[in-house]
Amino acid sequence: MLPISFEFYPPKTDEQREQLDRTARKLKAHAPQFMSVTFGAGGSTLSHTPETVQRLHSEHGVTGVPHLTCVGGSRQEIRDLLKLYRALGCDRIVALRGDLPSGMARSGDLRYANELVQLIRDEHGDHFQIEVAAYPEIHPQAEDAHKDLRNFKTKVDAGANGAITQYFYNTDAYFRFVDDVRALGIDIPIVPGIMPISNFSQLRRFSEACGAEIPRWISQRMRALGDDVEGVREFAADLVATLCQRLITGGAPALHFYTLNLAKPTQAILQRLR
Ligand code: FAD
Repeated sequence: MLPISFEFYPPKTDEQREQLDRTARKLKAHAPQFMSVTFGAGGSTLSHTPETVQRLHSEHGVTGVPHLTCVGGSRQEIRDLLKLYRALGCDRIVALRGDLPSGMARSGDLRYANELVQLIRDEHGDHFQIEVAAYPEIHPQAEDAHKDLRNFKTKVDAGANGAITQYFYNTDAYFRFVDDVRALGIDIPIVPGIMPISNFSQLRRFSEACGAEIPRWISQRMRALGDDVEGVREFAADLVATLCQRLITGGAPALHFYTLNLAKPTQAILQRLR
């Protein structure tokens, strides 16, 4: 089995904290390389992300990796967070631009993720292993596919060690993206981001916003399954496990699961892969 990692969002209430603890305990059994914790652009989860990373270290004994976004934050806020993460023993970070919550006017000192990668390298040398985001189906705000690829290269040139992709359900998009970046001389690992399917209508809404395509045949199958909860669960797990198997066979270096803090949908996929 390839190295795997799990992504969580930082809990804000006691109930959410308990849920994350339960999920982390279950998923830890799959020996992940790390568990990463998202960060709300604009500082909405300023303290929640470090707290969660620390909790993953101290309560669960796993490597917690913070996400850090730059849009909406000042250089000083970013510097302070980097110092805090170093003090917490972190040596890996997922560096992103982020998306400002709608209505938030504050744009921050840094505009794009490559500037954040540069800041981390300038101030901390090689201390952090830096992962950046990649978009096999093209970032929704990109001017065009070629420019998006060139912008990706600027993040790598600034010092990223690896990339994790936006989720997708079409493996051709991933393999084509990997071919394209290799043709540009980029040799960092490109780890596919895997989104297990639990709540399909939520996934559809989210996919529209982030530019991930849900193939028509999947939507149609889901529609036909309707309220058949067990049928949906089985279909979703088989579908995503097949996607993972194709990625593994095609040479993906690792798999990163967007868990949405739930254990079961990810476990169902991992059970099928073993
Ligand atoms: P960038 O690499 O800066 O790219 C953003 C857009 O700007 C692209 O269209 C790119 O082509 C363009 N661009 C880049 N550089 C330039 C330039 N110099 N000139 C002109 N255009 C440019 N969001 C969160 O808020 N919190 C998280 O924790 C989080 N975690 C994520 C984890 C992963 C693995 C992924 C794939 C995404 C995550 N996101 C998160 C979402 C991410 O923040 C958004 O997709 C955001 O819109 C782009 O972030 P980025 O780092 O890819 O930005």
